[in-house]
Amino acid sequence: AGAEPVLSLTGVTHRYGGVTALDGIDLVVRGGAVLAVVGANGAGKSTLGQILHGSLTPTAGERTVPEPVRSSLVPEGRALFRSLSVRENLEVAGYAAGVKGRELRSRIDDAAEWLPERVRTRLGLPAAALSGGEQQLLAVARALIADPRLVVVDEPALGLAPALVDEVYGRIAGLAEDGVTVVVLEQLLTRALTVAHEVVVLHEGVIGATGSPEDPSFAVRAERAYFGAS
Ligand code: ATP
Repeated sequence: AGAEPVLSLTGVTHRYGGVTALDGIDLVVRGGAVLAVVGANGAGKSTLGQILHGSLTPTAGERTVPEPVRSSLVPEGRALFRSLSVRENLEVAGYAAGVKGRELRSRIDDAAEWLPERVRTRLGLPAAALSGGEQQLLAVARALIADPRLVVVDEPALGLAPALVDEVYGRIAGLAEDGVTVVVLEQLLTRALTVAHEVVVLHEGVIGATGSPEDPSFAVRAERAYFGAS
């Protein structure tokens, strides 16, 4: 909180043909914190995540960065190469980011260091052999290979057992402590309020509420916004 903006959206609207997924989004993302974007199915989270990441250009409005920011997206569903080993998944991310040789080995070591020991000791196993939570962690670790300052994680809790959700979110929140700016897209408001420093509530492509989970009046406002009440 109080940190410098790393990214701003101004009047961002995105249409897929006749479908308006986002409508007039103004948003400032501050450095080194966890921002949660919460909303029901179809609220526009994935679209907003891709725009924040920079891989999707909105049909209207601006994404501005005070200075260039290296960003990584962990897509919904993780998109791992299931038959490749854990290490190979990390290597592929290195090639995609243009990182090779000694530098790649050092980044893989760092990413492995971030993973829990039970994954770190199984770098040679196929990704498919990991549990759902471990695969989610691998997907985040893979995003870290590019040494991003901004990481957007799309629904990290999807399909995970509750105990693993806490572990996955705990490690994602740890990235912010290391100065990485984290945006998580999340369906559950209670979870967003637990994990984030700041929460943005999206309903049908519009931001209905923004606030801090530390503000005692925010939860009620956020819940109303989640369901589209003004
Ligand atoms: P979910 O939790 O289901 O992934 P979401 O909050 O991430 O939902 P988006 O995936 O951003 O929401 O979708 C917002 C709206 O845009 C929805 O109405 C969706 O059907 C529509 N949409 C998303 N992607 C496309 C696309 N490629 N083509 C057409 N419509 C799309």
